[in-house]
Order: sequence, then structure tokens, then C-alpha cells
Amino acid sequence: MMKMPVLFIGHGSPMNIISDNYFTRSLVKLGKDLPKPAAILVVSAHWLTEGTFVTCEGKPKTIHDFGGFPEELYRINYPSPGSPADARLITETVKNPAVKCSMDWGLDHASWMILQHIYPKADIPVIEMSLDYSPYNDWNRKTLRYYYDLAKQLYFLREKNIMIIGSGNIVHNLRLADFENTDAEPYEWAVEFDEKTKRALLDRNHNELLDCQNLNRAAALSVPTLDHYLPMIFAIALQGKDDALSFTHEGFQNASVSMRCFKIG
Ligand code: ZN
Repeated sequence: MMKMPVLFIGHGSPMNIISDNYFTRSLVKLGKDLPKPAAILVVSAHWLTEGTFVTCEGKPKTIHDFGGFPEELYRINYPSPGSPADARLITETVKNPAVKCSMDWGLDHASWMILQHIYPKADIPVIEMSLDYSPYNDWNRKTLRYYYDLAKQLYFLREKNIMIIGSGNIVHNLRLADFENTDAEPYEWAVEFDEKTKRALLDRNHNELLDCQNLNRAAALSVPTLDHYLPMIFAIALQGKDDALSFTHEGFQNASVSMRCFKIG
């Protein structure tokens, strides 16, 4: 049976909405290489909720959830339709934990920023999934496994021609970011954690990626909060036995944000 690939996209700054750089060009290339799915489900680093939700709207609005950027960014919309039927199917299929319908979100920039480069026609239905921010209050392996186990229950979507995309960043420390210089030299600790993660991804060492109890300094600085790391956990949970993993982009922006992206399957 044909299975839709799964993506993890390190999305970075909202400036990537309009920037022409290595990262945004890698997304354009990806769009040309990928099959066209029946629908797309994006797990968003920017939708944090109590409990897990999916967007059940027929016409999700474009959310400009960022402040202080050039006016141009706020005028761009991504008018893709939603897919209420697929969203409801997710709520009916994933039983533990419950996934609920939301009618008052839309598409935040974790989705539309990357999709307008990958699928610029905006003609594929898009659903977003939120991150349940209630079960975790500190790093520990048990809580990361909660998201991993949830994500595994989404596997059936791949066989229904639906593309699942985790949109976050493996290394994401905005407090130490150099906002003046997109191409600033990355911090040593950022490179160290990104390389360690790369190795674990290639070795299929999911336990290491879930193991946040042995925190070293590089990990603590690279993942100060879980929101941008968790979409990556969703992506690896959907890797089947025979699925290869390949990196579609590597690099850093703003010294403390890893733009590493990968494709599974
Ligand atoms: Zn972000």
C-alpha cells in the first residue's frame, strides 16, 4: 500500500514568509519533489492548548500570530480549505487521549509560512493539530512518550493519502537569538545538540530522542521549552519499519535556531 511521507520542518522566524534563502528554496524544491496529498495535517509549535485539538473549520483563517514584523507579512494569506471530514475522523479514531474539534483557530504561521513555499497554490485541504501543554511541567521521558504514543495513532492517515507535517525547530532558543543577522555563526552548544539529534535520527534511536532526563548543558540551552521540539517527536513516531529518513535541509538561522528538516518515507 502507498504511504504518504511524513515531514518535519524547522520553520524559524516569520521573516521566512518573504525571504529568499537556502531554507525557503529547500521548501520550494520539496514541493516539486513531493507527491500531492489529499490533505495535510500540521502539528504546530504555535498552538498550545489544554488537551489536544484539531481544526474542524471548512475555511480556516490565516492567523498572523507574530508582532513587530514588516507590514507586508500581515497582508499575506494562505486560503487553503480545511477538511472537516478528515478532522472529525481523527477525533473519532484517536481514543487515548481524546482529540477534540476546534472551530476557532485556523492556520498559524507554523503551517502557512512553510506551506506557501511547498504548495503555493493553497489548493490542498489543511488541518492543524495543537500541542497539549497540560501533561508536562518539566522535562521527563514519560511525558514525551505521551506525545509519541498519541502520534502513533495518526499512522492510518498516511495510508489515506494524508501528509503529516511536524512544524517546529530542533534547536530553538529565542532568548539568545541574533535577530539582526539571519546567517550569524551558530552557538557551539546549538551545533552540538543538532548533531547529536541528527545522529539519533539516522540511527533510529527514538529512545534517545525521547530521553530528556539526562540533560546536558547543550540540550538545556537548545530546548529551553518543549513547544518547538515536540512536533519532531510526532514525526519520528510515524516512522514505519521500512521507512527511510532523509534530511531535506540543514543549517541554522539567527545563531540559535536549527533549521534542520527531514522526510520520512
Ligand atoms: Zn516557531
